Amino acid sequence: MSRPALVLAFLSLALSASADTIPSDWPCATEPDGSPAMLALHRYWAGRSGLASTRGWNPGRDQDGVAILEDQGDLVAAKNPFDLQGRLLRFVPNATGGYDVLPAAGALGPAGTSLDLGTGSFRELALPFAFPFFGNRQDRVFVYADGHLTLGVNEEPGGGWSLARVLTGPPRVAALFTSLDPSRGGGISVRLSAQAAVFLWQELPGGGQINRNSFQVTLLASGEIELAYGQVESPTAIVGLAPGRSWDFSPADLSSGQPRGATGALVERFSQREELDLVSTLRRFYRDHSDAYDLVVTYTGRPLNPSPGSLAFEINVQNQASGIGLPAFDTARDWGSAGRLESIVFMDSVDPYLELDGFEVLAHEAGHRWLANARVRTPSNSPHGVLQGSGGHWNFFLDSDASLLGGNDIVERSPGRFETVDIARRYSPLDQYLMGLRLPEEVPSFFYVEGADDLRPNRAYKPSSGSEPGVSFTGVRREVHIEDVIAAMGPRLPDATRAPHVFRVAFILVEDAKAPATPARLAALARIRRGFEGYFREATDGRGGVITTLP
Ligand SMILES: [Zn+2]
Repeated sequence: MSRPALVLAFLSLALSASADTIPSDWPCATEPDGSPAMLALHRYWAGRSGLASTRGWNPGRDQDGVAILEDQGDLVAAKNPFDLQGRLLRFVPNATGGYDVLPAAGALGPAGTSLDLGTGSFRELALPFAFPFFGNRQDRVFVYADGHLTLGVNEEPGGGWSLARVLTGPPRVAALFTSLDPSRGGGISVRLSAQAAVFLWQELPGGGQINRNSFQVTLLASGEIELAYGQVESPTAIVGLAPGRSWDFSPADLSSGQPRGATGALVERFSQREELDLVSTLRRFYRDHSDAYDLVVTYTGRPLNPSPGSLAFEINVQNQASGIGLPAFDTARDWGSAGRLESIVFMDSVDPYLELDGFEVLAHEAGHRWLANARVRTPSNSPHGVLQGSGGHWNFFLDSDASLLGGNDIVERSPGRFETVDIARRYSPLDQYLMGLRLPEEVPSFFYVEGADDLRPNRAYKPSSGSEPGVSFTGVRREVHIEDVIAAMGPRLPDATRAPHVFRVAFILVEDAKAPATPARLAALARIRRGFEGYFREATDGRGGVITTLP
């Protein structure tokens, strides 16, 4: 196994030992709307009083070029264990266009007609009445295996179970918005009458978990909604109502019927883990550090990942570059920066990195500032085009020159027979072009393989599969020239003669009483910080640099 493959395998293992679910692939949680999503999560925690507002805060201290921030109840959000077992929640439309919730004791009704829902699937049904939801009459409902309904329009499953998705997706009733797996047991059924539509999830195992969850949604013709819970054992879920397509929401404490008179979505987010509030962390950092950084990288003393099941993620705070597949936007001020900050990387606990640099992971996440959102104008069945696999990562079958952002270094062993030979080694010439480090004429042509078949090993590799060396397959070689990328995306502006080539990076270590900034943790982070300067220079073929000291 090559060294990058070894490192990634080790980290997946380190993660799975402590995570709720075992990641099956490259566990990176970078999302295009990461900044508004994390800002919404901050508002949720602040509104729930899960976070102390920063009172007379102790200033942080800098050591070995690392900013150490101590949680004083303002950085780590408290857990919120599920407390709705045996409860009935009645949602009643209020005078402001939202809903009030009235909690009571409740029980589940009998099973109805089975919907025969497979894992990750949904079913469309006509309602026997026009159901008023946030002021709109709905006559179609979509029932999902994953514990929720959408009204009027459906949503493709598979986007994770985040607060952001609840808020910005279709109009939704989230009874237990979480990963559920009907392939391993339980059932989902419906009973329809002129007065009510009742949907029952009975004994559903959580995705990748050994447990059972039973709950029920009743849509009443009057416009009221009832959620009832039997035994619920999945530790993480979102419960509530959302009109959709809006970041406006009120954090709820459903079991106590709070708040009243809310407008917009009314949601409670249950979590059995403490999680880092990155917004508060960055704001605290900027209280005693200048606005001198393009990228801020955050490690913690213990696992506090606010995006469960992932290893790490990046958040784009602003973008002004064109031709890279990202819109222009700016949320830097929301994070406490006066305008310079472009990107935040969350690496989670530093402990897996005490002996290991993990530069592949760090450089992958840092690369998300610009990558990988480029497309070419080529017909493709994939929603992400032929260059990308999942959104933001290169296609497994793209000869990415062993890019840190996915794909593989692919060689054509014999005409029409290909093999992946290396992964996660560098920013490719295409990457460097998109980063503003290379001019178009400095990007050699590359290729992807269409219609991959006869895979060895014989596993279900997809465009979204994580990079892996030693996989061979047949297919049709399709050349891509940088002109094709420019034709689809527009030119990269500013180009490499004007774009910055050196980036200022700050490293933060968040500590608390449970996981203080011990000499071992600090030494590891100081080593990673210094080493990243050389790694980044090499990974960009000497065209780019990072400065990691604190001024
Ligand atoms: Zn990623």
